[in-house]
Amino acid sequence: MSAAGSDRAGRIGPNAILQLVAALREREGEGTAAAVLHRAGLTERLARPVGGLVPVAEVRALHTALQEVVDPATARSLAAEAGRRTAAYLLGHRIPGLFRRLLARLPTRLRQPLLLAAIGRHAWTFTGGGRFAVLRGSPPRLSIEPCPLCPASGRHGLGCVYYAATFEALLRDLVDPRSRVEPAVCRAAGSRRCELRILRLSA
Ligand SMILES: [Zn+2]
Repeated sequence: MSAAGSDRAGRIGPNAILQLVAALREREGEGTAAAVLHRAGLTERLARPVGGLVPVAEVRALHTALQEVVDPATARSLAAEAGRRTAAYLLGHRIPGLFRRLLARLPTRLRQPLLLAAIGRHAWTFTGGGRFAVLRGSPPRLSIEPCPLCPASGRHGLGCVYYAATFEALLRDLVDPRSRVEPAVCRAAGSRRCELRILRLSA
């Protein structure tokens, strides 16, 4: 981690909150969104959206409150929607056109490692000081250790779901529309880290 990165430990990009709140309001309505934010102690986030990096504790509180207010399938679906929205934001605002054009000219097999390396260089924006790694193998896996968003024990976290949906949408747009990313190992199940596996759907 860089010196600048160490200053950011314990904080991640605001999309983890902004996009989840947006998905929650749109899909479940203002009443449920307000109930979740109140339970998480984040009511002011409805009135005053966050700008810079946010404490991971806030995102964890939001995930926990969401799991307490809505059923598990809805909570996972909303976390995945937040991930897709985060990817759409990154594609629209944070990924340079030059990089996109470079990827588009490369054969598919070279695109994925290049994109994953770029994601690794920006890992400080989403790991909260945890270590991001690409694990080679078949299938390749992405590892975040420790995952800042999943609890250290107990029920499976929504962090894995959120990250998987974000990376899947980026891979589908920039590498191969058949890409699939799914949670494989969760810190909440006793692992030191969360792992996501990268698959490719057959045509
Ligand atoms: Zn997890």
